[in-house]
Amino acid sequence: LTGIRLSQAGVSYEIVDKNADVGGTWFENTYPGCRVDSSNHIYSYSFEPNHHWPQHFSTQPVLLEYFRGVADRYDLRGKIAFETEVETLDWDEPRALWKVTVRNKSGVRRVIEANAVVTAVGQLNRPRMPDIKGRDRFAGPAFHSARWRHDVDLTGKRVAVIGTGASAYQFVPEIAGKVGSLTIFQRTPPWGFPVPHYHEDVPDGMNWLMEHVPYYDKWYRFWMFWMVTDGLLPMVEADPGWNGPPTAVSAANLEFREMIAGAIAAQAPNRPDLVEKVVPTYPVGGKRSLLDNGVWMAALQRDNVSLVTDAISEITETGILTADGTARDFDVIIYGTGFHASKFLEPMKIRGRGGADLHATWDGDPRAYLGMTTPGFPNLFMIYGPNTNIVVNGSIIFFSECSVRYIVGCLKLLAETGARSMEPKREVHDAFNTRVDAANALMAWGAPQVSSWYKNEKGRVTQNWPFALVDYWRATLAPNPGDFVIEKAPEPVA
Ligand code: NAP
Repeated sequence: LTGIRLSQAGVSYEIVDKNADVGGTWFENTYPGCRVDSSNHIYSYSFEPNHHWPQHFSTQPVLLEYFRGVADRYDLRGKIAFETEVETLDWDEPRALWKVTVRNKSGVRRVIEANAVVTAVGQLNRPRMPDIKGRDRFAGPAFHSARWRHDVDLTGKRVAVIGTGASAYQFVPEIAGKVGSLTIFQRTPPWGFPVPHYHEDVPDGMNWLMEHVPYYDKWYRFWMFWMVTDGLLPMVEADPGWNGPPTAVSAANLEFREMIAGAIAAQAPNRPDLVEKVVPTYPVGGKRSLLDNGVWMAALQRDNVSLVTDAISEITETGILTADGTARDFDVIIYGTGFHASKFLEPMKIRGRGGADLHATWDGDPRAYLGMTTPGFPNLFMIYGPNTNIVVNGSIIFFSECSVRYIVGCLKLLAETGARSMEPKREVHDAFNTRVDAANALMAWGAPQVSSWYKNEKGRVTQNWPFALVDYWRATLAPNPGDFVIEKAPEPVA
């Protein structure tokens, strides 16, 4: 997206990607059942609609093909250095340039000099393996969901899955019928919203409307943003005066909870023991809510599947030991344990003004102005930076479009004023973060009884945007020059 917009703006650029192809998360996650969980009709570029999505929520290969197609249509491949990783970024103060040291797959390093750097590395990119005693001792194959081992045939095997987040929720139903036995180790259950058409095809008639009826696709996209995304926010907002049970954060949230818990229970009428295990005790919206069309509960009720809620105490050479003293043997362990989300921009080393290290400056608490810029790091722009993730309402593609529009606006401001650098004013940055923190504290995901990848080790919500999508859209229409320290180029010596 940044490449497309920079090309259109006539700005020269180079893109560096550690992967061998475009697609990011859709390139890396190839686990069985991987599919988008925001409707494709909003999880796609506004300027590149697809009137032929095969399903409302398409599978990973379809998504990857979409992004490959966009890269080809906009002739981006020639601009991308693939299989190349950024190691360091150093701000060269006298020349007002970033020196970007990159290393290709052969280990050859080079330095790119750039007036500005845009990062687009995602929040869910570095797999997080759990810190469980003995993890490396297991003798059989063991892998993370984002590094799926397609060479490991699961047929008839005794398989353990650790974690029950968005990834496991998708791959468990896919592998349950294939494996010999499946044991799922659940620490905290996920909430699943009832979405019966989650795996269904888009009806031909709807595709026809998208393609032939003027503006129908635009209307549908707008309707989804308004009703299905921002429309859900009131259900996950905390009522500061709430004195009901800690399983909810407001009366509306409690009502929402009862509706969803009822839908889960209805899927296992003869298994109150299972329902007791899978209905979360934290408020709806506390963690990423998943889309439920029944396949998860159906998988959990299979004869060859068991759900273990005892804590894991150790991994041994042959299996997993739980705190109640039970030892279970496995052939394969699959980790659906998520990502190092709050370690923004790691492992890159980024040194800004005065050689200050970005991660030392953040000290485990990443913050940015509108998720994009941070004081002391001029001309450094982040996409999907701190506090730009959305929980119930939206599409990251929409956020990216807002960010890139704003970033191109910043570059325009630099070019038009002849300035050498810009960075947010400290007070603007701090006031913004105070507002974000206060709002996050009043959302279900900010509730003290909730733990998730949305919070950092200090318990602050570092990932999420607490407002409506339309608020981000409005805030990022164009940069306000008054928000920035804009450093003019020195007058030429006569
Ligand atoms: P995740 O949501 O962070 O889930 C990780 C799971 O592993 C949680 O159930 C967690 O339990 C468990 N876990 C971690 N350490 C553990 C340990 N030591 N012992 C036992 N259990 C442990 O990760 P994810 O499923 O990969 O999803 C991450 C995010 O990626 C999602 O929230 C979503 O934003 C995105 N995603 C999207 C899609 C999609 O759009 N289709 C699909 C997959 C992922 P606790 O909850 O107790 O920590």
